[in-house]
Amino acid sequence: YTQAKALVFSQNGEPSEVLKLHTHSISPSLPKRSVLLRALAAPINPADINTIQGTYGSQPSFTSLIGTSSPSAIPGNEGVFEVVATGDSSLPVHKGDWVVPAVAQFGTWRTHAVADVDEVLKINKEGLRATQAATISVNPSTAYRILRAYGPSAGISAGLGMRPLEVGSGQWFIQNGANSGVGRAAIQLGRLWGLRSINVIRERESEQETEALRAELTELGADVVVTEKQFLSREWKDQLAEITNKGREHIGLGLNCVGGKSATAVARSLSESGTMVSYGGMARQPIALPVGLLIFKDIRVVGFWLSRWNHQDAAGRKHMIDYIVELIREGKLRDVPLREVAWNWETDASVLAQEVQDGLKGFKGGKGIFVF
Ligand code: NDP
Repeated sequence: YTQAKALVFSQNGEPSEVLKLHTHSISPSLPKRSVLLRALAAPINPADINTIQGTYGSQPSFTSLIGTSSPSAIPGNEGVFEVVATGDSSLPVHKGDWVVPAVAQFGTWRTHAVADVDEVLKINKEGLRATQAATISVNPSTAYRILRAYGPSAGISAGLGMRPLEVGSGQWFIQNGANSGVGRAAIQLGRLWGLRSINVIRERESEQETEALRAELTELGADVVVTEKQFLSREWKDQLAEITNKGREHIGLGLNCVGGKSATAVARSLSESGTMVSYGGMARQPIALPVGLLIFKDIRVVGFWLSRWNHQDAAGRKHMIDYIVELIREGKLRDVPLREVAWNWETDASVLAQEVQDGLKGFKGGKGIFVF
């Protein structure tokens, strides 16, 4: 028998209050199509926290599968596992392979898992660190999908009749939350695909720290980095005109991670018929838009949810993951800053739960990631 531990919650609430650590054992006899997995790394994403709080777009079902006293769910959408054993040697994955979840709400915050072989996707682990493999599926994928669907060669494929950004055209996109995992991936993918980016960050505590962050994003390929203060000021209009050669260079796409005033400013910065894609609402503020922007400038406002895309295009997802893995291996897509949280057999539940609780706090040094 394999001894395993999993973080579980059996009711929605604050992570520090509702997360418990559950110990269970896994039988050595595996069904034919099952695989036994050992966790290597799993990040703490904002969506995981929202799921525990009960504010996310979908909820896992509570079950008694791992023998918790009340029905529970294991949080964690993203992570990488090593295959320890398979139910049958003819399965397409083998002992030692690395896999990531192929389905939503896999429950990655656990030391071990038994999964159906169809619920996992094998990745080429060569030259990859576990923390890199564990953070491919959500953030880089979101940036990839948004830029692909609404950026290069968009319009035609999405059928939205917008003015598409073109690969290699040097066309602009603008984004807030630029230092987020998604934002950093967008900067790098955009640069690789010949797009230019205007990136909005929140000011740090000191000028020095702000400059350091600016330098970091510039190093990743950001063309322009502005602080939110600058972005929300009266002067921004003129600064933007200067950046875009008095508006002759178009800004066709805006990525909104934040909501509130920051999103309004993204929409205002777009050129005629530009699209603002909202994928996050970190400020928890609704978006107010001047009607004139919609009527006279024909600004389009849409949302993006990776889960929906993954569900509708599993083959495309596999292709995308392979592509991203390759970029990481080639050193073309750099890691986001991560704060590694060691999860050993002795690690206390409260330590893990507190890490999760802190995951939504702003001005973090890096995203928390459980390393097993
Ligand atoms: P990260 O933890 O990497 O980054 C969080 C970002 O949010 C940072 O840029 C941070 O800025 C900013 N932020 C935090 N609090 C606030 C606040 N109160 N006001 C403004 N900005 C704030 O996150 P991810 O990249 O993993 O995710 C970013 C967002 O994207 C989340 O909302 C997440 O749910 C969403 N997302 C959505 C997906 C989808 O399919 N729609 C898929 C993936 C992610 P600072 O450094 O200044 O604190």
